[in-house]
Formats: sequence, C-alpha cells, structure tokens
Amino acid sequence: MSQDLYDLLGVSRDADADTIKKAYRRMARRLHPDVNPDPETQEQFKEISRAYEVLSDPQKRAAYDRGGDPFGGVGGFGQGAGFSFTDIMDAFFGGAAASAGRGPRPRVRRGQDALIRVEVDLAEAAFGVARELKVDTAVVCTTCHGDGAAPGSRPIPCETCRGAGEVAHVQRSFLGEVRTLRPCAACRGFGSIIPEPCRECSGDGRVRSRRTLTVKIPAGVDTGTRIQLTEQGEVGPGGGPAGDLYVEVTVAPHATFTRHGNDLHCTVTVPMTAAALGTTLTLPTLEADVEQGGDSGVETTFELELRPGTQSGSERVLKGRGVPGLRGGRGDLVVSVIVETPTVLDPRQEELLRELAAIRGEEEPTGQVRPASKSVFGRLRDAFNPH
Ligand SMILES: [Zn+2]
Ligand SMILES: [Zn+2]
Repeated sequence: MSQDLYDLLGVSRDADADTIKKAYRRMARRLHPDVNPDPETQEQFKEISRAYEVLSDPQKRAAYDRGGDPFGGVGGFGQGAGFSFTDIMDAFFGGAAASAGRGPRPRVRRGQDALIRVEVDLAEAAFGVARELKVDTAVVCTTCHGDGAAPGSRPIPCETCRGAGEVAHVQRSFLGEVRTLRPCAACRGFGSIIPEPCRECSGDGRVRSRRTLTVKIPAGVDTGTRIQLTEQGEVGPGGGPAGDLYVEVTVAPHATFTRHGNDLHCTVTVPMTAAALGTTLTLPTLEADVEQGGDSGVETTFELELRPGTQSGSERVLKGRGVPGLRGGRGDLVVSVIVETPTVLDPRQEELLRELAAIRGEEEPTGQVRPASKSVFGRLRDAFNPH
C-alpha cells in the first residue's frame, strides 16, 4: 500500500469510528461513480473505499496500525479489484442496507469472534498449562431464551413492509427514474416487530455476562500464538450461534533464559582461575520453574563441565535442553561463558599473579592485535588462503 490510509481519508491516526465514517461519506458523495463517472475519479473512489474498509473494521485497523497487511487475509480484496459494496452501503445507510433486495434480514445471527490475551511465563509456554480465564461476553438471555420478546408475547409481522423487510423508493436522477429497495424503517429490515421487548435484554436476545472458562495452553506456544476455542465467543443477536474465542499468548521474559525460536540462551560467569583450571557448574533447568518441590523425578538442575582453558565468550550448545516445539522436537540450550577478571587484588594475590606472569614470560606482554570480529567473507578468505 503506497499511500497512508489515514491520509487518504484526511483523518488523524487517532480518529474515532464516527469521524472516519463521516469523512468517508463526505468524500464518497463527491467521488461516487454515479456522480462523477470519469476513470480517474473512479480510481480515487476505489482507493478511499479500500481505506474505509480497513479503518472501519477494528481488527483490520489494528492490523494496519501494527504495520501489517490488512488485505492479506482471506476475504480481503487486496488485488485492487473493487470494493466491498456492503460496507459502502453501510456507510450511507447506517448498517441496515446490507440486506437490501434480499428480503427481511434475520433476527438470529452468528455472534462475533472475540480475542483475549493471556500472559504466561516461559516454563508454562514451554511445557503447557491450564489457565482459568474470565471473559466478558454476550450470552443468551434466559428471560426470553433469545427471541427478544417479553414472556407471553411474540414478534408480529411488520405492517409497513408486510414482512418483506424492505420498501421501494423511487428517485428521479439524471440517469432517469431509479427504483431502489431500502430496508424498512419501521422494523429496521427485520420484517417483524417485537411489540413488547424483553426487559432483561431490551429485545436483543442476549445479555452481557462474565464467564469463567479453562483454557488448555499447549506445550511449545510462543508470543503471538493464538488458540482458537470454537463457539466460545459472543452469542449472536437473537440468541444466534456463538462466534469463536481466540486466546493470544504473550510469554513473559525470564530471569535466566532468553528464547530464540525453540532455543534457550543463558550466560554464566566464571572466575578467571576456574576458566583456566576447568570446573563443573550446576545450572538450573527450565523444568525447575514448574517443579512444585515434590519428588516427581523432574530434573531441576544439571551439571555443565567446563574444560581447562575455557575462553570468555565461548558457547556451549546442549542439545535438547531448549523449548519443546508445538509440533514435537525440542530446541537446544546455548550457554555463553563470560570469564571474570578480578578487579581488586590484595597484596598476596597480586604477588601470586606477578609470579605466574613471570613463569609464563608475560611480564610485559605486547598483546596481539586482531580484528574485533571477522566477517563471514573474511573467514572464508582465510580458509581458502591459509598463511
Ligand atoms: Zn431477553
Ligand atoms: Zn417493516
């Protein structure tokens, strides 16, 4: 997308839905092909319609704000082939026009999908966890069982449109007489009227409610993983089937381990003497985080042997000690070793170190100057042209 969608509609990035809709309507009236059929104007009309399609949809707008491609998903119209007629009609007629020419719109519709975010710690993400979540959602109204009519009453056919949900309008325009079907204002296109709406849900057939549900988060999830819970979203208008609930996982940073894909990285610091002489370190495993203190046989620590002469900055790769993959397998643990040089020496230590330096002929080291780090090409060149 070359041009900024907000710029196209001439609104600021924090414009609310109403401002965006108004801006779009204002421009669409001027650029609509019926008004202004020249090709350049039509192209402009398509562009603002595309912008409106994204910015009027909270999910697509959020994706666009994050820098994503709002047209990337199935059902988008990213090829520039046209624009969503429904949304444009919605913008003009306030949402009820979608069903024009198709008979009454059903009162019972599928509910919306919902998204909630859950933060887990690294070990929970690695090994899986069951989480109890509280979800604010819409559930079927128990007073009217979803049909929206007060107990003892029922919806009656609309007299204005005789149950068709739409009425014909005849307009004169420069194209001649145009007959259009518009949603019936008396019944808002439903074809029926609820004379006595249910008091509990105001006739919507559903009420807001807080539900608690347990989500099983599988082993191997990472930040951004979405778990789909079919039909756990909002119940639809008129008690229609529920949408899906998506649980998006965020993994909290860990004090010891950082995660790169399924590999874990950590850094250990060893004294200069231990690095020179070799040592065995006891390191915590990620499993230690989920171990409840019982003796379930879970390994909470492991030993890492450092050879004499271990260099600062060296890495040890421990196969299979990383994070399990969502589709099986397990990553590695990469341990980086930092050798610590003493910063304070007492007279005795200094004496010993001077003696050591003398034995090794290092009293006045000249130092070896090397490039800070060699590029891949540098290393390849060295490999092919040994000195
Ligand atoms: Zn009700
Ligand atoms: Zn009607």
